[in-house]
Amino acid sequence: MTAVTAQHALTQAHANGVARLDAQWLLLHALGRPSQDRGWLLAHDDLVLTDAQIRVYDGLLQRRAQGEPLAYLVGSKEFFGLTLQVDARVLVPRPDTETLVYWAVEVLGTIAIAEGDTLDLLDLGTGSGAVALALAHELLAQGRSVRTVAVDASQDALTVASANAAVLGLAVKFIHSDWLAHVAGRFHLIVSNPPYVAAADPHLAALQHEPTSALTSGPDGLNDLRVIISQAPAHLHHGGWLLLEHGYDQAAAVRDLLAHAGFVELDTRLDLAGITRCSGGQWLGLPDSANSEIIASS
Ligand code: GLN
Repeated sequence: MTAVTAQHALTQAHANGVARLDAQWLLLHALGRPSQDRGWLLAHDDLVLTDAQIRVYDGLLQRRAQGEPLAYLVGSKEFFGLTLQVDARVLVPRPDTETLVYWAVEVLGTIAIAEGDTLDLLDLGTGSGAVALALAHELLAQGRSVRTVAVDASQDALTVASANAAVLGLAVKFIHSDWLAHVAGRFHLIVSNPPYVAAADPHLAALQHEPTSALTSGPDGLNDLRVIISQAPAHLHHGGWLLLEHGYDQAAAVRDLLAHAGFVELDTRLDLAGITRCSGGQWLGLPDSANSEIIASS
């Protein structure tokens, strides 16, 4: 039997319809080397693979050819400069979701809190922890004092997210909750990348390896966004913000929902492809103390 070199292995991937860059990552993974080692791989394409390496690589190649996300196969994904461990229990963090993080960082920069106070931040539907961890990491780098809470209805997702927090050394409080049902208190910022794909959307065919519960939300994809927008005001400080990721065609509907709920300063942000991807607004409900008086007297 002729020896299988790295070069052969990469050519074989092409024949299986797997993209060259994906194949390089899978081969590095099978060789037990980090994904940054592409240069090394190209310089050593005459390397002869062992039988065990060939078996691992072939297995990964088959799974990739069947549409399994690369991130699940190599077990990690870069998001906002952080390396997150991911598997089929959570949605793979998308580069588009960095739009939500950039906007949140911008908004947090405008929120003034009293000396000695702490910014309270809430991420709803945290999945791998991507958004909460990116924000916690960024605020730590800025030297700001922040308390980050992250919620998911999936215990499996919370297991993945808290492992990521531990690896990154970031302090995040995780709560098992269906949206805000088990969350107490008020926040300066609530962010969420909820499920928002319409149940019959043809795009779902390409996403079948990821958890459906993290992707779909009723016939128009807006069910979870409706719940979040209706529950958020009771958990926002006066002047706090709610920023939401949504589908490519949902910006107007989400802004309408926000307006009806009483949010102001409504705005929409574009993702890397120029698609309207996030909408949000500010909550100028009565100050916290007045709020509780109204509740008490009504
Ligand atoms: N933007 C994702 C996709 O279609 C969906 C993520 C979500 O539902 N939050 O790939």
